[in-house]
Amino acid sequence: MPYRAEYIWIDGQKPTAKLRSKTKIVTEGEAPPIWGFDGSSTEQAPGSSSDCVLRPVMVKPDPIRGGSDLLVLAEVLDIELEPHESNTRAACRATAERYAGHEPWFGIEQEYTFYKDGRPHGWPIGGFPAPQGGYYCGVGADEIWGRDIVEAHTKACIDAGISISGTNAEVMIGQWEFQVGPLGPVEAADELWMARWLLYRIAEDFDVSAHLNPKPVEGDWNGAGAHTNFSTNQMRDNYEAVIAACEALGKKADVHIQHYGAGIERRLTGLHETAPWTEYNYGVSDRGASVRIPWQVAKEGKGYIEDRRPNANCDPYVVTRLITETVCSYLDGEPI
Ligand code: ADP
Ligand code: MN
Ligand code: MN
Ligand code: MN
Repeated sequence: MPYRAEYIWIDGQKPTAKLRSKTKIVTEGEAPPIWGFDGSSTEQAPGSSSDCVLRPVMVKPDPIRGGSDLLVLAEVLDIELEPHESNTRAACRATAERYAGHEPWFGIEQEYTFYKDGRPHGWPIGGFPAPQGGYYCGVGADEIWGRDIVEAHTKACIDAGISISGTNAEVMIGQWEFQVGPLGPVEAADELWMARWLLYRIAEDFDVSAHLNPKPVEGDWNGAGAHTNFSTNQMRDNYEAVIAACEALGKKADVHIQHYGAGIERRLTGLHETAPWTEYNYGVSDRGASVRIPWQVAKEGKGYIEDRRPNANCDPYVVTRLITETVCSYLDGEPI
C-alpha cells in the first residue's frame, strides 16, 4: 500500500512567512523523496521560472491520518539545489555546526490566539469581555475558549514525536501557549514549525483559526510572544556564564530586536509583562525585563535564561541562530 506524505514548507511572504503544505502519495518502502512546487504562488519565484525544490529535513508519523502516513518538514531550495533566499534554516544550521561545542539548548514558548467569526475566540460581538485577570491558567466556560482544540493539538504533537513540554491558557481571553524543547538550535525550530502547522490544521476541524499576531487587540490586552529559553554547557555549569550570556545579548540588542518578528514595537511597550523595545535589561525573576533569569537558576547558580523579547510571529530559525551566534561567540572571547 502506498502512503501519504504531507510536505510542509515555509513560504516567501513578507514581513512574516507562513506555512504551506501538500500531499504526495509515495510507494510503500520508499522514503519521501525530493519534490517541488510552484514558487510563483508562494512569493518565492516569478511565473516565468516558477519551480522551487522541496528537500525533506524532518520526517514524523502523521498523527492526524495515522497508519503509515507521514508529516515531512521540507526546506526550500532553488533548482541548483542551493538554499532559496527565503530559507533561513540553512544559516541556522551553519551556526549550530560552528558552535556545536557549546551544546546550545532552546525551549520556546509559543503563544497564539484563536479566532472565530473574525474576532478572538470568546470575545462578544461588538464589545469587550471582562478585563484580564482570571483567564491565565483558568478553568470554566466563562474563562476558557478552545480547550478541546488545545487538547487535540497536544496529543497530536506527542503522537508525532514532537518534544512539546507543556501548555497553558494565557492572560488574554482566547490566547494560549505551548512550549517545545529543550532541543538544539535547528531541532527546536524544526519542531516548532511543525507544531505550528499541526495547530493550524487541527483548529481547522473546529472551524477556528490560530494566529501568531503579536498584538491581536490594542489597549489593555496582553500581546503574544515566543519567549526563548536558552542555555549552553557552560551556563548549565556556572553562574558566570549565565551572566555573560545576559551581557552578550545586551551588546547586540538592536540586531536582535530587528529580527524577532514584525510588529515588535507594538508588543514590547513596557506594559503587560514586557520591557520597552528601545531598552535592554535583565534580572532575576523579572517578567518586566528583556531577559529573565529564573529564580531557581539564581539559587542553584547555574541553568538557563529566558529571552522574553521574541514575538509570537518570529522565525525560530532566525531567533535560535542569533542567540547562539551572539552568546557563544562572546563566551569564546571573539564576539561577532
Ligand atoms: P515560563 O515560566 O516563562 O512560562 P515555561 O515553563 O513556559 O516558562 O517554559 C520554559 C521552557 O524552558 C520549556 O520549554 C523548557 O523546556 C525550557 N527549558 C528548561 N530548561 C532549559 C535549559 N536548560 N535550556 C534551555 N531551555 C530550557
Ligand atoms: Mn510559559
Ligand atoms: Mn506565556
Ligand atoms: Mn515565559
